[in-house]
Amino acid sequence: MQENFQTVVKFIKQQFPQQDFIPLHEPRFIGNEKAYVLDAISSTFVSSVGAYVNKFEEMMCEITGAKHAIAIVNGTNALHLALLLADVQEEDEVLSQSLTFIATCNAISYIKAKPVFIDVDLDTLGMSPSSLNLFLHQYGEKRADGFTYNKQSQKRIKACVPMHTFGLPCRIDEIAEICKQWNISLVEDAAESLGSYYKNQHTGTFGKIGTFSFNGNKTVTCGGGGALITNDEALAKRAKHLSTQAKQAHPWAFLHDEIGYNYRMPNLNAALACAQLEQLKAFVENKRALASSYKNFFQDLAIPFVEELPEAQSNYWLNAILWKDVAEREAFLKYANNHGVMSRPVWELMHRLPMFNTAQKAHLSNSEYIADRLVNIPSSVRT
Ligand SMILES: *Cc1c(COP(=O)(O)O)cnc(C)c1O
Repeated sequence: MQENFQTVVKFIKQQFPQQDFIPLHEPRFIGNEKAYVLDAISSTFVSSVGAYVNKFEEMMCEITGAKHAIAIVNGTNALHLALLLADVQEEDEVLSQSLTFIATCNAISYIKAKPVFIDVDLDTLGMSPSSLNLFLHQYGEKRADGFTYNKQSQKRIKACVPMHTFGLPCRIDEIAEICKQWNISLVEDAAESLGSYYKNQHTGTFGKIGTFSFNGNKTVTCGGGGALITNDEALAKRAKHLSTQAKQAHPWAFLHDEIGYNYRMPNLNAALACAQLEQLKAFVENKRALASSYKNFFQDLAIPFVEELPEAQSNYWLNAILWKDVAEREAFLKYANNHGVMSRPVWELMHRLPMFNTAQKAHLSNSEYIADRLVNIPSSVRT
């Protein structure tokens, strides 16, 4: 096995020849970043009002094809706002994944709603429509008010939040269809999948709302940032209103008509974001070329490399491979990290964390299989 590890680490190092230590994912500021940030500073509009925030929203509409985009301070808060807009209330249930980053479940928890964990598909690592279907047929009950309730907990199942893991689109059209049947609002956590398409449609546009993150480790970054997209004009208006302290438009008075949030992305970050978005297409092409090299290499070694579905176009944010079992995964993590190649296991499954270990869950055999075996390997844009 040690031999295999050596071969893998050597190959990864060859992909990033200028570096002694190879991070999992580092940002690249090789476009107009400095010019735009300096321009934002010169304009004195560095906070939540400014030309770049508006420009950012326009660019997000262009890229995703969504009718409306709202700039948000980070992806977690974008998700929080999206769930509020989907009218998720305290004690409602939200169907999501155990295999996800903690932010998905934190956002659900901010509303005091309860996550319920659906399994993922082994190939997409995202929510499994068959697991979702099975769960709803077993526990779902449509009541006279038009909503679906959980027969076991008696709680309303208000929303479903699938996540496009590592940028790989999940079977989102099937999930959207199931949500429609059960009148469950679909909110896509597309934090990792900017530039990823399913059947030529951008991820995040299949349901009511989609959310994105521009954190430092994502495909494109603005330090910290997020976005919310929707085709629903009323929702978009409300998103902007709630994200700006629910302040009513007025030339001087401070009038607020409900509890709002300070969730708008600052212009300084938006300047950085605009410069990065200009390079999104090139970054994704670059990352897809790396993924393709990895794919061929791991094929020869008979190590499973996680690939996009034939009908999907992934941004390959983070590349992932599967080892035989936990022991082999741990041995590789130790070897790679000791030899200057950063690699990481997937997040601890949500249902194993103390905050969520009593949450209801579907059979999570695929999530558990993946959690035992998967490692992410360096995936930055190569310069
Ligand atoms: C990065 C990420 C978020 C939110 O990220 P922020 O750091 O708050 O911008 C949410 N969900 C997933 C799955 C993520 O990977």
